[in-house]
Amino acid sequence: MKYPTISRRGFLAATASAGLLWTPVIAGCGALPVQRARSSKARNVIFLVADGMNTGTWSIADYYMQHLGQGQSEWVKLYQQQAVTRSLMETCSADSRVTDSAAAASAWSTGIRINNGAINIGIDGTVLAPIHEKVQRSGRSTGLVTTTRVTHATPAAFAANVVSRGAEDTIASQYLDREVDVLLGGGEKHFSAATRADHADLKLAYQNAGYQLLESRDQLLNSVEGASSRLLGLFWPSHLPYTIDRDANPDIASQVPTLQEMMRRALSTLERNRDGFLLQVEGGRVDHGGHANDVGAIVHDQIAFDECIAVARAYCQENPDTLVIVTTDHGCGGCQLNGVGAGYKNTDATFFPGIDAIGASYEHLQSALPSMEQEAYAALVEQRLQIAIDEKRYQQLQVERAKGGYAVANLIKKWHGSFARTGVNWTSGNHTGEYVELCAWGPGSDSVEPWLPNTDLHDVMEQALGLS
Ligand SMILES: [Zn+2]
Repeated sequence: MKYPTISRRGFLAATASAGLLWTPVIAGCGALPVQRARSSKARNVIFLVADGMNTGTWSIADYYMQHLGQGQSEWVKLYQQQAVTRSLMETCSADSRVTDSAAAASAWSTGIRINNGAINIGIDGTVLAPIHEKVQRSGRSTGLVTTTRVTHATPAAFAANVVSRGAEDTIASQYLDREVDVLLGGGEKHFSAATRADHADLKLAYQNAGYQLLESRDQLLNSVEGASSRLLGLFWPSHLPYTIDRDANPDIASQVPTLQEMMRRALSTLERNRDGFLLQVEGGRVDHGGHANDVGAIVHDQIAFDECIAVARAYCQENPDTLVIVTTDHGCGGCQLNGVGAGYKNTDATFFPGIDAIGASYEHLQSALPSMEQEAYAALVEQRLQIAIDEKRYQQLQVERAKGGYAVANLIKKWHGSFARTGVNWTSGNHTGEYVELCAWGPGSDSVEPWLPNTDLHDVMEQALGLS
């Protein structure tokens, strides 16, 4: 299967400046009005990605935020104000209707569709310049912030070139060689001499190159800002723990910052470059919650991502020459709230208490199994998921544990049964091919068309920053 591989735009810059009027702010939609752009040229771009977000995921997070008394999600507030350009985006890769994150983010980065699994390598083997290179050449800084390993596919595609997305040791080296200014997330194992295949001490190499190394939330929040214009923050060996597990475990919370905390620090560092910056912020574990069909994990990580929209809005109040793009790269898992009971009248009574009752991800309960005695483990699972673990089930878990991978988490997922407990169900554990939501505001946002292929976002950013 082949899909168009080249961005089709190039005529938009001349027309974008027509949208000069301020849009009035509608009352009751938050304290921070979004402004229409006065110019088509941006100094900065903030690119927010809820990775693997079905529209159903966003919906249940929005419902749950209201249930918690937090009001509607920031993303919904943007639409209520009618002050953003809203679009649907097609997400195909070159070789599949259903993309992976590597091909999707490469399309944003280069404007060209490539095959799933590669990062900025064309279908004919051409090495494609990632957008970091062009942004850097313009005198601006770049930053990559994520809840996954910082070397994972979505952030990598903004700055790296590898034939296979799994080459994360190489990606960690390329970030240093290419001088990506701010890197915050998980994935310490790809920077440590003890765990890299080549045993190179990249943490030391980054420090020698002038990066400030941050290895805990406390260091992120309390280290002296301005000590360096370059940051390497690595807060976990692999992906950061899910938000639901961070919130339930003080030891994790003291080690791992939230996504919006990382974003704030990235902004305060990047903005020191008065020529501007490109910052990509990824709620990367929304995708993992979809793969795992884990409703508790996905709701809380989507809410954590949503907090970053508020940060972006606040930043734009002080810096209106900033283009903000909010989207996802593809759906994942087909997450949906389904009607429950006769006339669907038991939906709310199932969904809200069901989510309230979940206190851990399946992944966390899998990782806790090897270090706990049966009694303590049964008490943990009972408390966090209300599943009784008797002797027979405990032995079943041990059998699955021997298989490795996500076998234990999958068995716990089956026992939990998200549809019966919450009304939320799934189409699969795979990515999905739906058109996805996108919105943008700030200079250049008027050039986002109501329906667009993912490659167009490259041109939107390039034209807004005057890179072409
Ligand atoms: Zn995925």
